[in-house]
Order: sequence, then C-alpha cells, then structure tokens
Amino acid sequence: MNDILLLKLGEIVLKGLNRRSFEAKLVGNVRRRLIGLGNFQVSCLQSTVYVEPLDENADMDAAFEAVQDVFGIVKISRASACEKDKDAIAKLAIECLREDMLRAKSFKVESKRSDKRFPMTSIQLSQYVGGELAEAYPNCVVDVHNPELTVNVEVRDLAAYVHAQPVDGAGGMPVGSNGIAVSLLSGGIDSPVSTYMIAKRGVRLIPVHFFSFPYTSQQAKEKVIELGKILTAYCGAMTLEVVPFTHIQEEIRDKCPEEYFTLIMRRFMMRIAQEIANRTGARAIVTGENLGQVASQTMEAMASTQAVISLPVLQPLVGMDKEEIVRFARKIGTFETSILPYEDCCTVFTPRHPRTHPKLEEVERAEAALAVEELVAEALKGIEQIRL
Ligand code: ATP
Ligand code: MG
Repeated sequence: MNDILLLKLGEIVLKGLNRRSFEAKLVGNVRRRLIGLGNFQVSCLQSTVYVEPLDENADMDAAFEAVQDVFGIVKISRASACEKDKDAIAKLAIECLREDMLRAKSFKVESKRSDKRFPMTSIQLSQYVGGELAEAYPNCVVDVHNPELTVNVEVRDLAAYVHAQPVDGAGGMPVGSNGIAVSLLSGGIDSPVSTYMIAKRGVRLIPVHFFSFPYTSQQAKEKVIELGKILTAYCGAMTLEVVPFTHIQEEIRDKCPEEYFTLIMRRFMMRIAQEIANRTGARAIVTGENLGQVASQTMEAMASTQAVISLPVLQPLVGMDKEEIVRFARKIGTFETSILPYEDCCTVFTPRHPRTHPKLEEVERAEAALAVEELVAEALKGIEQIRL
C-alpha cells in the first residue's frame, strides 16, 4: 500500500451547509496544484483531503511541498497505509516511525476510528499499538500527558493510516470560496504580499498592472509577469491585465499642478480598476498601501483616491511595518524579484513636494482640466491580457 498525504481542513470545517462546496473548491485547487507532478487521486472524506499516488511517476516529495502552498489546509501529514488490522497497524508503526521513535524520549499514541465496525475502541487500539512500540523502542517511554512525540493512528473507510508530526499548511480558505477581487500589482515589495493575503481569505484575484511605456521599461513589465507567476502557486492560474497608462500620466504632467500628480494618478488607477471589476464580477479592489509609508498613503490622501469609486478597497498591509512586509515577501518567494531595480509608473513624474494632507476639493480642482472619462475609456480599450 502507498504513502499518502492527509490534508486537514482549516476554517472550512466551520462553514456548516457550505462545507461541501468549500471542500469541492479545495479538492479542485489541490488537483490543479499537483498538475505536472504525476498521477494522483485527490478526494475528500470526513474533513480530510486525501492525496494518493496512482503510479510510480507520482512525485510524492514534490506533492508534499506543493500542497503546503494551498489555502484552506491547516495541517499536512505524510502517512503510511496498511490493512485495518491491529497487528498490521503495530508492525507498520514500528517500521515507519523508526527515526522518530529513536529520537524521542517519550511518546503517546492517539487513535481515531471513523470506521465504527473496527473491533477495538480507539483507547484499546492506542494501548495496543503503544505497547508494541514501547517494546520495540525501549529508549522511548509512554507519557500520555506531555509526550515529545504523538503517533497518530486513523482507521478510516479504505485503510488504516499511521503518521506522526504533521507540518503546518498555508491556512486560510480555498481560493474561489470567497468571491473575486481586482488586485493592483506594481513591481514593488508590497503588492505581491497584499495579493497573497487576500487570496488567503479565499478570494480569486485579477491582477492589474499600470504600465507607462517607454517611461517604464519592458523589463518592468516582465518583472510584474514574473511576480504574478510566483503568486499562482498560491492564487491559482490568473490573467494579468496590463493597462496602458502613458497617455494618462502625460496628460496629468501637462495639465495639472505638480504637487497633485501622484494623487490624481492614483485616482485614475482606482477608476480603471473599478471598471475592470465591473466587467469581471469582482467586488473589491486590493492594494498594498500602508499607512504613512509614502506621501500618497496618509489618511487624507487615501480618502481622495477612494472618493472616485464605490467598491471597498482592501489594504491588508495597512498596519504592518516594512520589516514585517519584507519578511513576508521572502517567505512567499517574491522578494528577490521585487527588488530588481526597474522603475514603476509611481516613480515617473513624481512631484518634488507632494501634497500629503490634501482636501478632496483641492484634488478635484487640480484634476478639472482633464477629460477623465475619455482617458479611462481609452486606457480600458488598450488593455493587454496575459495568462500567467
Ligand atoms: P508596492 O511595493 O506594492 O509598489 P509602494 O509602497 O511602492 O507599494 P505605491 O507605489 O504608492 O506604494 O503604491 C501603492 C499601491 O498602489 C501598491 O501597493 C499597488 O497596489 C498599487 N500600485 C502602485 N503602482 C502600481 C502599478 N504600476 N500598477 C498597479 N498597481 C500599482
Ligand atoms: Mg510602488
């Protein structure tokens, strides 16, 4: 019988009647994450997702790594399987937990029995397997109160499983179980992290990038594509919407007072993002904004940007320190790409003295010379979609 992976579901267990559809989303997401790693069967039974290799080509080590990125899973165990027989279970535990048992000083066995036809109670099974393990590994004593190692035995419908020491899963909720949002993805450090965090809450994301060629280079765009690809490990497949932003920025530069450049530019980003949201069924806009980090991220500046749209703006990084964000970016694997030195459109035509505490009316007045609707429509027409 084959090694399998047991994925313990997180918050979805709490979701009552919706549980089935959550589970189906999660199973689909796990299947997609395993594409390219061989043939697996993925199924859900009793709040656990099982990943079973179907042939020799299935790469279990790679699968074990890959499922650690999938949202909706709290714990992952690599378990060995055997017949549902007490002696087969004890023999398997002795074999497959050898290293753990030799290392630990104390242990206990915890059994679960979802197949109620199994002839022993959970307590009897734990005592039996515990006794056999203690005899095989006299270095490790039974301690039911504070054991160094917990050995898990599960008697389920298809087989019995033995495993110890699960690793942590990614947590959160399955992507697709909590709606759709547009995520503004620059090439910086912050926005890949904010995208990750909202995906973690079960939201499917549509990444949008504003591109100001030739002020920002082709490489800057490649960098955003690369960041998007890294994020697909967590977010699933996505389509990046690249919005041509050059004309809007030139119009702002030519017709608006300099101190408002960034604010007006951000208002255009929001309007365009909201249009994309309306076309795609998205119900929110995600940004990597962070209170006080730059001039455009004061409360007044944010108010003036958000005044042009009605969708909620989700800013998961709003209260984090830069250092925490960087740690996060390293953990999810986007940091090294984010720090590649290509310009973003935010650093083109930056005002020397930006308004940090603007009144809404001032910004509206500063913007009055622009043909807002036409510029938005033109940008939307020029969108390039890139499958990640
Ligand atoms: P980041 O590291 O994500 O670039 P930042 O601290 O540099 O963030 P800003 O440049 O002010 O902050 O941008 C704030 C947010 O606006 C970004 O986190 C991102 O969500 C969005 N944004 C900025 N520039 C772009 C762009 N060119 N395309 C899409 N979204 C952008
Ligand atoms: Mg930026």
